Amino acid sequence: MTAINKQWLLKRRPQGDVTRDDFEYVETPIPEVGEGEVRVRHLYLSIDPTNRLWTREADGYLPAVPLNTPMRGNGIGIVEESRHERFKEGDFVGGFLQWQTHVVVKGNELGKMRVQEGTPLTHYHGLLGAIGFTAFFGLMDIGKPKAGETIVVSAAAGAVGSLVCQIGKKEGCRVVGLAGSDDKCQWLIDELGIDAAINYKTEDVAESMAKHCPDGIDIYFDNVGGDILDAALGLINVGARIPLCGMISTYNDSEPQPGPKNLIQVLNQRARLEGFIVIDYLPRAKEAFEYLVPAYESGKIQFRTHVVEGIDQVPDALTMLFRGENEGKLIVKIDPDWHD
Ligand code: NDP
Repeated sequence: MTAINKQWLLKRRPQGDVTRDDFEYVETPIPEVGEGEVRVRHLYLSIDPTNRLWTREADGYLPAVPLNTPMRGNGIGIVEESRHERFKEGDFVGGFLQWQTHVVVKGNELGKMRVQEGTPLTHYHGLLGAIGFTAFFGLMDIGKPKAGETIVVSAAAGAVGSLVCQIGKKEGCRVVGLAGSDDKCQWLIDELGIDAAINYKTEDVAESMAKHCPDGIDIYFDNVGGDILDAALGLINVGARIPLCGMISTYNDSEPQPGPKNLIQVLNQRARLEGFIVIDYLPRAKEAFEYLVPAYESGKIQFRTHVVEGIDQVPDALTMLFRGENEGKLIVKIDPDWHD
């Protein structure tokens, strides 16, 4: 019997909020493994805000996903069959495994993972993967925190934001986080030990930021763009740094937003607003590991993972990010039978 691949194709370009109907579920036979190829069983798919950007018609930092092809997604899998010299059955691999249960792919498109015994595989999508690198390099390389400075972090209870908050505290800074519920704000204060939290859905953001940042803002780590970026710009100090990590509040927009009203503050305050993409930092991954692993092992840094089960849940999982329904790094466990 031919083994079946369960896939989600990108059916149409989402208009406004991304929905399940923008994708189509199909079942196709898994192709034979050709010379130089590897067949991988997908175990854990990372669900990221940037997935929404990849569904747009225009290319971004990666080319747009073509319609009627498997939706792009970063995954962790296990090799089932290999005709590539670098891989053997049972190896763990990472790469664009896409929104599907299996993939047959050229070996040179996969990364071989060195999985530490006792470390959950999901960590390689979070603390020990792109999320950890994003938080670490975005804050340390671009933000350049100094003890005593004030850092404001948006989407602070999310995967990247929660790490940025904790690294900021570890560096001796005052940290103020924004999140979309009172529970998330309480968690940021009680569990992560930040100095103040703002519920951006119920509070006047500019007013609360001014109250909690009496000495102004030295670093604004932006995960959301839009009005929150604008409010932060209004409070930046001379020489402020603004790592532009993400702009999730705009990803579902069909038309580009007008620029921030307070952009002139970047000029007035001789500030630096710098975008970055984590891919560029992968050659320096070791630096992030050397910082994050001991901090995690000694309990100075914690990390939450939110796992949803089943290939059928993948499109709904993506919408969760835009409703703030995830508590930590969002991952779909693709293979229900897999146990680390
Ligand atoms: P998160 O785990 O932070 O999940 C996204 C969170 O964003 C939600 O939980 C929600 O939290 C918040 N959110 C959703 N919509 C809005 C909105 N309209 N306004 C404000 N907050 C909103 O995801 P990640 O940690 O993976 O990503 C965070 C940001 O970092 C994203 O912008 C992403 O694109 C970016 N990123 C950038 C990378 C890079 O290389 N530059 C790499 C990885 C991520 P709440 O309940 O608080 O609203």
